Amino acid sequence: MSLWFSAWERRLLPLAGSRCLTAGRCRRAEPLRHVTARRSCSTGQGEVRVRFAPSPTAGFLHLGGLRTALYNYIFAKKYEGKFILRLEDTDQSRLVPGAAESIEDMLEWAGIPPDESPRRGGPLGPYLQSQRLHLYTQTAQQLVESGHAYRCFCSSQRLELLKKEALRSGQTPRYDNRCRHLRPEQVQEKLAQGVPHVIRFRLEEGVEPFQDLVFGLNRHEVAQVEGDPVVIKADGFPTYHLANIVDDHHMKISHVLRGSEWLISTSKHLLMYKALGWRPPAFGHLPLLMNKDGSKLSKRQGDIFIQSYQRDGVLPEALLDITTNCGSGFTTNRMGRSIDDLISEFNPSKITTHSALLDLEKLPEFNRIHLQQRIEDEEQCRLLIKDLQREIQQVHEAEIQDRDVLHEDYIRRVLLLRKGHISSVKDMLSPLYAYLWVRPSISSQQVAALTGEAQLIASSVLRLIEERGEDLSVERLSKDLKTAAKQAKTTKYRDVMKLLRLALSGLQQGPSVAEMMASLGAAEVSRRLQKLLLLPDAS
Ligand code: GLU
Repeated sequence: MSLWFSAWERRLLPLAGSRCLTAGRCRRAEPLRHVTARRSCSTGQGEVRVRFAPSPTAGFLHLGGLRTALYNYIFAKKYEGKFILRLEDTDQSRLVPGAAESIEDMLEWAGIPPDESPRRGGPLGPYLQSQRLHLYTQTAQQLVESGHAYRCFCSSQRLELLKKEALRSGQTPRYDNRCRHLRPEQVQEKLAQGVPHVIRFRLEEGVEPFQDLVFGLNRHEVAQVEGDPVVIKADGFPTYHLANIVDDHHMKISHVLRGSEWLISTSKHLLMYKALGWRPPAFGHLPLLMNKDGSKLSKRQGDIFIQSYQRDGVLPEALLDITTNCGSGFTTNRMGRSIDDLISEFNPSKITTHSALLDLEKLPEFNRIHLQQRIEDEEQCRLLIKDLQREIQQVHEAEIQDRDVLHEDYIRRVLLLRKGHISSVKDMLSPLYAYLWVRPSISSQQVAALTGEAQLIASSVLRLIEERGEDLSVERLSKDLKTAAKQAKTTKYRDVMKLLRLALSGLQQGPSVAEMMASLGAAEVSRRLQKLLLLPDAS
C-alpha cells in the first residue's frame, strides 16, 4: 500500500510544476497537501487533467461507466484540476442513436458535470473524436515516416486464412506482420494501383515496465502475443489505440484513470508514446465493478443503465454513494456521503486491485438516507415538492377533492413526517399513501366489523382535535389518542386505532394514526371523522 501511495505522490509532485518552490518542501505530505502546493504555483503545465472517454458504440451510460467518470471527477476536484468528457465515436457504423447526448446528460444529472466536453466545449477541443480525424491521420503519417508504422495491403481473405490456420493448429490468431517487409517501391506500386490498405503500428520487443498507480509495476510484452495492430483502418478512420493516445496527448491529460480491462493495452500505448517522442500521462487502472456474488455486471440486464435509475426515482447522490462504498479509494466506508464528502475523503492510495463488489439490494437504503438529506434541505425539498406536485396530479387527477393537497406547505409537512421511512419520493404515489391526496371511502360494514362504539370514539377524538387546533405534533397526538381510546368501553386500544386508521385512510396499515393525523391536519381529520358519525348503522 505504501508503495502505491508514494506512486500517486510521485505523480502528483511533478504536477506542482518544476517552477514550484514549495514542492520540494512538502514531498512527504499527504496528497491533499499537494493541492496547496499546486495552488501556490499553477504553472499551467502542471495542471491535473483527467478524462472520461466512453464510446457511444457501447451504448448508454451504465454503472461501471458512471463509476469511472466519478473517480475521474473526484480526482480532478480534489487536486483542483479539470475533468474532461471525450466521446470516442470513431466507429460510426456502430453508434447507438442518442447515446452520445445521453452520456453527457447523465453526468450532469449525476452531479458530476465535465469542465470540458462536446456540449461545453473547452480550450483543447473538439471533444468528439469524429471531429478530430485530421490529428490521427497526421500522427499516423508521422509514424509511417519515422518507420514506426507501415502500410499493410493484406486482403481480408488473407487475414481470414491466417486466422483459420492458427485456430486449426490451436494457436491464438495474430497477424504475421508480412507487410512490414514490403520495399518502398512495392508500397508505391500498390498505392498507385489503389489497393486498399490499413496502417499498422510496428510493435517493438523489449517493453519497459511502467508503474501503474493502482496495480504497481506492470509490463506486457505485446509483440510476443499479438501481431502489429491496425492504427488507421481502410476507411481512413483510426482505431481506439491510436485515437486514444493522440487525444490524451493533445488534450494534455495528466492522469489516465480507467477500467482495469485496459491494463493490458497500456504497454502498447506506451510504445506508441515512445515512438512519437511524447511524455505519457500517469496510468491508474480501476478494479472492475461486479455483482455481490462476483459475477459480471451485465449491461444486458438493462437495469444497470443510469437512465433507468433516473426514471425509477433513484437519487444520483445515492448512486454515487453506493458505487464508492464497495471498497475502493476511501479509508473507511460509510453511507450517506455527499459528493463534497466523497471529494474530501477520497484517498487514491486506497484504491485496491481486487474487484469492487456492488450490492444493489442496498440501493433503496442508500436512497432512503439521501432522500432524507434532501428533504431536510429547504431548497432541495422545494424541488422534490415540485416533482411530486406534478406526479400527484398525473396519478390522482380525477379523484382529488381538495386542491389544498397540492399546496407546497402540505406536501412539505407530509415529506418531513415520512422522511427516513420512504426510500423514494415515488413511494408517495403508491396506494399506501393515496389517502394523503384523496379522501377514502369506507363502508359501515367495515366499521361495524371493528367496533360498535365508532360514534363514541369519533366524537372523543374530534373533541381532542378541536382542543389542539392546528397544532398537531405526533408525540402529543400519540399521548392524546391513548387518553381518548380509554373512553371506549368495549373496544380495545388496538381496535380503536384500527378504526381511526380506517376512517383516515381507508386502509388497515400504514403510518401511525398520530402521524396520519399530523399529516392531514386538523380540518381534514375532522372532516374524515365526521363521516364516521354520519355512517348509517355505524354503531
Ligand atoms: N473508449 C474507451 C472505453 O470506452 C476508453 C478507454 C480509456 O479510457 O482509455 O472504455
